Amino acid sequence: MNHLTWLPNSLLKGITPPKIVFEEFKGQPYSGYFLHATQKITVVEGYTEASTIAHEFCHYLQHLKGNIVASTWKVEGTYEESIHKYFTTNKSEYEALRFEYKYAKDYLNEWWLRKLVHGN
Ligand SMILES: [Zn+2]
Repeated sequence: MNHLTWLPNSLLKGITPPKIVFEEFKGQPYSGYFLHATQKITVVEGYTEASTIAHEFCHYLQHLKGNIVASTWKVEGTYEESIHKYFTTNKSEYEALRFEYKYAKDYLNEWWLRKLVHGN
């Protein structure tokens, strides 16, 4: 099954689709990740699957363009402050957040982008 067919064809044109594997939700503090070494996207099953696939697919596109800046999530201050810092100090993460908001908007990326990042 191809988990990317809902994305616009133009995004998939001329590239090899990344491998996507699913993980059962067991309280892990992330919804998914992309590993540059294996070029594989891991997605935690649950409510934010579509936005996570979009987010990690954006990292895959960055990878294909040679942008392999690794970023690690960590909590500094409150959750809200951490989200703000993560997406405002990391260009590839900001791009991935905008990408998921554009192609798979949900309550979470809308809250992060509009309130926590842009503050409006
Ligand atoms: Zn990311």
